[in-house]
Amino acid sequence: MKRINRIYEITKNEGIIKMIKINTLFLASIVALFLTNASAEELETKALTSHLKCACGKKNGITETTFAMIKPEAVQAGTTGDIIKQIELNGFKIKDIIKKSLTREDAEQFYKEHKDKPFFRNLVTYMTSGPAILLALEKENAVSDWRKLMGSTDATKADVGTLRKMFGKSMQENAVHGSANLEDAKNELAFLALQMNALNHNIVKKI
Ligand code: ATP
Ligand code: MG
Repeated sequence: MKRINRIYEITKNEGIIKMIKINTLFLASIVALFLTNASAEELETKALTSHLKCACGKKNGITETTFAMIKPEAVQAGTTGDIIKQIELNGFKIKDIIKKSLTREDAEQFYKEHKDKPFFRNLVTYMTSGPAILLALEKENAVSDWRKLMGSTDATKADVGTLRKMFGKSMQENAVHGSANLEDAKNELAFLALQMNALNHNIVKKI
């Protein structure tokens, strides 16, 4: 009888142990499920964050090249070096640079969007009055950052710290030019390439 009791005890204990094991397994699987869900949520959050970061990156971090000019009166005034210093201090890389006098045809073509404005003739005369410095500038957000650094068109109203405030004189004589947007930058950089070719051609002819 004692022996039967003992066997019964053992079987009962094994049953309890089995139950505990099954329950533990069940609990473990619930915890695992919970953890899996949590990490899925976590992953989703991470993905969203990285997507947002990516969107921010697009807005703030694309390397662009813009076209810039140091206009004839600023070159004539001997401020080329000071303006180039500001260009570099403000994080722009000079990818290309040439000094060249624009022809009337060049200036008319370059500022054709203003051809019907009352100041157009004076603008062309001004832009052909002497050599200008033509530059390709590279930086993150180069187009808008260069426009910010230039300041407003009217040099007399430009903000302190801008190039037009520092080196410009008036609405017309405002020291520097910059492409208005990426599309203009593309066209104006093509204009720079043509000017560089013409300059190289002339140099070769002189040699
Ligand atoms: P830019 O194109 O040279 O970078 P901007 O984009 O600030 O200058 P725009 O409106 O495109 O200004 O004018 C082209 C240029 O024509 C000016 O930089 C300036 O030299 C000249 N200009 C613009 N408005 C006038 C005006 N009312 N009177 C005289 N000149 C002007
Ligand atoms: Mg303009």
